[in-house]
Amino acid sequence: MSRPRNYQTEALIIRKTRLGEADRILSLYTPKLGKIQAVAKGVRRPRSKMSGHLELVTHSLVSLARGRNIDTVTNTRTITAFLPLKSDLLRGAAALYTAELVDRFTADHIENEPLFKLLLATWHKLAGTDDIETALRFFELHLLETLGYRPELEHCVACKGTLTAAGNWFGPAAGGVICLACAPRYPQRFPVSPEALDTLRTLQKSEPATLPTGISPAVLSELVALLGRYLEHLLEKEVKSARWLDTLRMQLNRNAASHTA
Ligand SMILES: [Zn+2]
Repeated sequence: MSRPRNYQTEALIIRKTRLGEADRILSLYTPKLGKIQAVAKGVRRPRSKMSGHLELVTHSLVSLARGRNIDTVTNTRTITAFLPLKSDLLRGAAALYTAELVDRFTADHIENEPLFKLLLATWHKLAGTDDIETALRFFELHLLETLGYRPELEHCVACKGTLTAAGNWFGPAAGGVICLACAPRYPQRFPVSPEALDTLRTLQKSEPATLPTGISPAVLSELVALLGRYLEHLLEKEVKSARWLDTLRMQLNRNAASHTA
């Protein structure tokens, strides 16, 4: 049986690339088809009816026509525009970072509905929360889980032994926490504080609606580094937008400091 020529899907717009004079190639993350590439014709023309519905970090309903090499967007309607993610620099950078991670970690046409739901829930969270960093750490941990890289936090990932309260390590190559005895076998390890480990365990069991609040800045920055190193290890090269987000975060902190000085 041949597949229908036209089809419709919900989609999260995670990447866009210019094509020719007025077109774009879009990466769409969908619930049932995984990541798909599609051409949006004429969307860079000022009077395009579709362009607003196909911006990055938008949840849209998209109609497509199958092509021999790539499918073409024939119609689209916005479900959620996520305006706070487009008007606020830090929220926007955070959302683009989540989109880039999903794009980098996925291949085309591999269904992963939990990942679609996670990204959608994270964009809603980022649009509404003032605690962007906690929302991002939640996203990173659960992204890893939906991709099959759930870090082991309850037992030593190497010997399966019970972890002590302090003196544990995190090993990106091992995929989790390592006890003191196993540590020498993992040269890439780095220490994980008891507070950071507790927070990771809490985040791993949380839902977007019930994220922990009041995580100390010291623990949050330890988690930025820990999860960043694990993600980089998995991607085998650094995530470009993570570096950009770091730069932006430093600038914002500097601005905040100069306003209060
Ligand atoms: Zn061990």
